[in-house]
Amino acid sequence: INKPTVKQYDYDKIRQQDKAHFLHPWQVFDVFREEGALPIVEGSGNHIVDADGKRYFDAVGGLWCNNIGLGRVEMAEAIAQQALQLSYANPFVDMTNAPAAELAAKLAELAPGSINHVFFSCGGSTSVDTAFRLIHYYQNCRGKHDKKHIISRINAYHGSTYAAMSIGGKPGDHPPEFDFIKDTIHHLSYPNFYRAPAGMDEQQFVDHLVQEFEDKIAELGGADKVAAFFAEPVMGAGGVIVAPEGYLKRMHQICKDNDILYVSDEVVTAFGRLGHWFASKERFDIQPDIIISAKGLTSGYQPLGATLFSDEIFAVLDAEGSDRCFAHGFTYSGHPVACAAALKNIEIMEREQLLGNVKEIGPYFEQQLKTLEDLPIVGQVRGINFMQCVEYVADKETKALFPEALDIGKRVSNHADARGLITRAIVHLNVMSPALTMTRKDVDFIVSTLRESIEATMADLRAEGLLDG
Ligand code: PLP
Repeated sequence: INKPTVKQYDYDKIRQQDKAHFLHPWQVFDVFREEGALPIVEGSGNHIVDADGKRYFDAVGGLWCNNIGLGRVEMAEAIAQQALQLSYANPFVDMTNAPAAELAAKLAELAPGSINHVFFSCGGSTSVDTAFRLIHYYQNCRGKHDKKHIISRINAYHGSTYAAMSIGGKPGDHPPEFDFIKDTIHHLSYPNFYRAPAGMDEQQFVDHLVQEFEDKIAELGGADKVAAFFAEPVMGAGGVIVAPEGYLKRMHQICKDNDILYVSDEVVTAFGRLGHWFASKERFDIQPDIIISAKGLTSGYQPLGATLFSDEIFAVLDAEGSDRCFAHGFTYSGHPVACAAALKNIEIMEREQLLGNVKEIGPYFEQQLKTLEDLPIVGQVRGINFMQCVEYVADKETKALFPEALDIGKRVSNHADARGLITRAIVHLNVMSPALTMTRKDVDFIVSTLRESIEATMADLRAEGLLDG
């Protein structure tokens, strides 16, 4: 396959069709009506191009998913080959297809410990939803019909199906217009030490969070009522929250001690973003019972999600003579083209040693971004390797935030857009998760452009009388 000649599009026409007919995820109606969306027509590596021909370095990697870089001919070939050979096969028990079987085996090889089973779905949310249903199924199979409560964290993000959204804990994702499950899903504090209660040191903060978990289990009627705990190893959309040392291990230990399943949502952190296939065991030394994966699994070339789970869970489901049916599944479970894309994606990561690049360039990225902390409105830069975030504050001393309506993250990212850099604004944050191919030169461009963009934003704020000095 050769790269096709770039097809030309009319910038205004796309925007007009888009505004009239495409309801976007997280569309803020009043803003969208005025501003619309930026039409992107081309992408290669870490760069995207809009319909006016303007080129940007996409430091967000799409939506935390572009791990090997955009526009790879090899990926297009693998996808085309599979689409021509077998574009679809029924996955409902009596048939399978080679890419799905091969990918399931590969994931079992890459996943830690006894995690040797996989259920395929269409993305992260459907994989979280699958985990939710799998947990109920597992507890019912064991006769533990009351063990149904799910514990998660405030500011967690787990996706957008009904269950996934309910397990998530971002206040903005639970607006009054949407209903969600409240009776069996509960949220603990999130492990953000930067905003820990005043006077606590890191260890006291961890003790406090662990105690809160234990209290919640007791409040729900004890371990016999609690089915599972969900956690991202590093919280993503909730603000790239890296928990203090010991937190994940201690939360995991409580799960083990209380027969509570530990679900590690690695939709963002797996497939190299932190420098590992899966971060739970390799980075944080915890062995989950269930791992959720999507995004970097195909680097966004095809929609695919995976719910990975342990031999111990499978043994309960698979008990001989039970005459059970796992009545759950999607038309596109184990889609051959998506699975072929995942296999090629993993092959490229292995061949190009992209995890090694993340381990080498990641600390430089962290260290260079940290230099932005000398700016008066940068409260904290945080993250691990290729998952980073800048938090803006109105007052460094008190850590007070700018009013939400000011949309400080968006103001900075607008200045960055104008300079050819895409960062993701989440209220008072700018989040970054570039492709794993990023070089030192790319890091230098991101950091210097971000500095200029923050300085330009500060100049605007001063001109508007919103910032002193
Ligand atoms: N879980 C986490 C940690 C995520 O970050 C996301 C998406 O950003 C999801 C689940 C949902 O994945 P998807 O959007 O593919 O459904």
